[in-house]
Amino acid sequence: MFAIMQASGLQALHVAQDPHTGLQAIIAVHSTRLGPALGGCRYLSYVDSHSALADAARLAKGMSYKAALAGLPFGGGKAVLIRPAHVPSRAALFEAFGGFIETLKGGYITAVDSGTSAADMDCIAQRTQHVTSTTRAGDPSPHTAMGVFAGIRASAMARLGSDDLQGLRIAVQGLGQVGYALAEQLAAAGAELLVSDLDPGRLQLAVQQLGAQPVSSEALPSIPCDIFVPCGLGGVLNQQTVAQLHCAVVAGAANNQLASPEIAELLEARGILYAPDYVINSGGLIYVARTHQGASGPEITAHLAQIGQRLTEVYAHAQAENRSPARIADQLAERLLEPA
Ligand code: NAD
Repeated sequence: MFAIMQASGLQALHVAQDPHTGLQAIIAVHSTRLGPALGGCRYLSYVDSHSALADAARLAKGMSYKAALAGLPFGGGKAVLIRPAHVPSRAALFEAFGGFIETLKGGYITAVDSGTSAADMDCIAQRTQHVTSTTRAGDPSPHTAMGVFAGIRASAMARLGSDDLQGLRIAVQGLGQVGYALAEQLAAAGAELLVSDLDPGRLQLAVQQLGAQPVSSEALPSIPCDIFVPCGLGGVLNQQTVAQLHCAVVAGAANNQLASPEIAELLEARGILYAPDYVINSGGLIYVARTHQGASGPEITAHLAQIGQRLTEVYAHAQAENRSPARIADQLAERLLEPA
């Protein structure tokens, strides 16, 4: 356990179980240097508690970096609820989890993540105020899309010399909650859209409503375009796909796009500008964090626009130091997280 904590630099680990509801929960707090730890709550099956702990620790660290570079007064944390084979009442399990969060007195604030929904957050809210992304707070995905759009414009400016997307060929992989909302904005900005999704219904919708050109999922990463926008699953950038890319910029919403950290240097070597995923996709986090703080709509919109400025800053440092934007983003986040 301590080895996992040390490997991820975790500050604290909290564990709870409740035989009445089937709750088995781990809350990993990576850092509270900039504020209370904020991060989603997963509800998934795990082969054992060790792998659940490793998942929570890795993801908590990522949340610290994301919040720091998004300019938020929050630290990073993540909760993992081990999904039982049978649960007497899902609502009771999430309410019990709310009780566990309440014992931390605001040191950890939870949100929706893989396997959880706004309805689950509503159950948590029965027992604690330290919860975001409830039904009342609304879906963060459109805000993630807005942030990615700002990031794409900043990336186009840095690599192509203009943030005008009119006439650019933009390939969007994945037309889910974020990808579709983003594709709508790109189409409105005059981009020529090439799209793929494993779901033929989503693909058809983009063809009919946005005038997008459908491409198979396998072919999209190698299609000639200006900007490749991964909005599906993580790990899409590996040795093979990077060798096949035919674009100037990779800038998309998907989490953990780099299959391994060294892929950032491969992209550099190929002259492809990569927008670090946790910087460009921080719009959802900004939305849930600022909503939790009681910020107004215009304040949140202004904060989302800063994603473009932050990327511009990362690219400038990367060029000056001849390092990849991914390494520079980590370096900037680590500086912000250093003890005072
Ligand atoms: P989603 O599940 O709603 O959509 C993902 C879509 O991608 C689905 O339609 C799926 O069919 C498609 N897809 C998956 N693999 C594909 C492939 N190989 N080729 C083509 N299409 C593929 O998810 P989402 O909420 O839109 O999130 C998209 C990505 O952005 C995820 O990686 C997520 O972790 C990340 N992200 C989302 C948010 C948010 O606010 N929802 C915030 C930050 C990061």
